[in-house]
Amino acid sequence: MSGPVSAGMTAVVPCFNEADNVEHAYSEIVTELGDVDLEVLFVDDGSSDDTLARIRALARTDSRVQYLSFTRNFGFEAAFSAGYRYASKPWILHIDADVQFPVTEAHKLVAAAESGQDAVFGVRETRHDPLVRRVGARFYHFVARRVLGIEIPPGATTFRLVRTELARAIVDLRLGTPYFLATVPRLTNRYATVPVAHRARERGGSKLNLRWLVGHAVGLFVGFSNRMASAASLLALFAAVVAGAGAVGAAAGLLWTDVFATAVLGALFAVLTVLAVAVRYLVAVGAGQARPALFYVRESTMPVDEADRLLTERAVEEVRT
Ligand code: UDP
Ligand code: MG
Repeated sequence: MSGPVSAGMTAVVPCFNEADNVEHAYSEIVTELGDVDLEVLFVDDGSSDDTLARIRALARTDSRVQYLSFTRNFGFEAAFSAGYRYASKPWILHIDADVQFPVTEAHKLVAAAESGQDAVFGVRETRHDPLVRRVGARFYHFVARRVLGIEIPPGATTFRLVRTELARAIVDLRLGTPYFLATVPRLTNRYATVPVAHRARERGGSKLNLRWLVGHAVGLFVGFSNRMASAASLLALFAAVVAGAGAVGAAAGLLWTDVFATAVLGALFAVLTVLAVAVRYLVAVGAGQARPALFYVRESTMPVDEADRLLTERAVEEVRT
């Protein structure tokens, strides 16, 4: 391999209960990218199955393998963010443990990166996921891009090749609503998308549940656009005008009939209900309070910052005395 990527690449592999996939992913990565200055960094996102044991075994036999293991399940964004934070090579290739994107396709990302990109995203030629996921993703990308005006590289996926410097800068922002895809265009205009093959998951089921997917979408909507806040504010103003007009009309003895009162109060009920829900998300989620931490590491092959570890009992004792 030549060009900038020949300087070295870390394959970041987030894993949550992927015991059946760890070895497959490892062998596909080293077979396909064996000629690169390679690091394979597994991030065990608090798995409760054999995942960590299998990663440890790989790390014992191959010095290119490193890992971070979380104290509990922190979620997909936290898992890959930790990998991006601790990758030691100048480029990061993100590979999910189920290798739904065949690793051979990485060569296409590499070729595109050679033209001076900071990030190259794979776009699935044909997506092999359940219908509800395909339709849901289309809908929420439509809302994000068209309705809320959020810039996301069209069709971009987590199969991506990113300059480690850029990926780390994004993680270090510690956004209250982290969303990698939407943050890249804020920091650089040198990014591209490339069509790549995609296949169905062969072992185990999807680890992204509906709750996480919805929460992630809401985080994007309220964290990367203020159109929802403006709409909520306008809606509140509208409710106030309706209430005020009703009050004035009633005082003047002009408008107040049972039907009219029912209509006005009914409309106010609807508007205020929507607002109550919207404000909950806008304030609780969108205020973007930096979280104390996106993840905590319990075990690792590499030196981990003190801030990314939970205080051990001994450390707590030291703080107390
Ligand atoms: N994953 C993770 N933490 C989680 C959920 C998922 O690290 O809480 C990992 C998972 O093991 C996989 C990757 O994230 O390597 C993508 O998950 P999955 O393949 O289930 O997502 P999908 O392909 O269904 O979008
Ligand atoms: Mg998958």
